[in-house]
Amino acid sequence: MLTPLAAGRPREAAAIRRFRFSAGTERHLGSMSSNDEARTMHPNHSHPTQDPGRDGGTDEWPGAFTFCPICGQRLMSRVVGGKTRPACAACDFVHFRNPGVGAAVVLRDGSGRILLVRRGPNATRPGLWSIPAGFVDYGEDVRAGAARELLEETGLLATVGEPVWVATNTHDPAKVTVGIWFAGTQVGGVLAAGDDAVDVGWFNLDELPPLAFDTDKAYIASLVE
Ligand SMILES: [Zn+2]
Repeated sequence: MLTPLAAGRPREAAAIRRFRFSAGTERHLGSMSSNDEARTMHPNHSHPTQDPGRDGGTDEWPGAFTFCPICGQRLMSRVVGGKTRPACAACDFVHFRNPGVGAAVVLRDGSGRILLVRRGPNATRPGLWSIPAGFVDYGEDVRAGAARELLEETGLLATVGEPVWVATNTHDPAKVTVGIWFAGTQVGGVLAAGDDAVDVGWFNLDELPPLAFDTDKAYIASLVE
């Protein structure tokens, strides 16, 4: 059976619980009961943007589709591949929700300092610092995306080499990403903050500014071990 809707549950609860993968999402569910069907057809709750009746998804991973992005019909729930997923009865679209892909470039200078950007007012966690990174566009090569983000945020041109770190970022439960950190080699450009970065600079690993993300912290910690 599906878990009850979590409408009205405080947002803080979702934030606190965001790292816990619900065992319920892995249960093998049978066909929806008539009650489940009725509930998903008539979601009588106060958060119409939340996913109607998705097992484990509403409060832990907010931001799921409510309406079909292909044809615009309200999505129902369907068990596909052992999990309950938003699905469209009109056009057979099933929302297999996947993480986005973020790509970062790690640049080090001759004395071992690392290049960081200070995040601007429109970025996640403004005012804090992070390794230059951004979302890979759909269809864009992952290394090209990494180099593009580096150029946009720092003004530097780099060749993008091998991955040096991979991690899942869950700091925003509505926008989970898989991050790939690539080793980069600067080949040109002029250092200048741009795009959604407001400052950029080289930092010794033992004199870092406040960092925005645990994943950057973990990678940098691995460098000094
Ligand atoms: Zn549809």
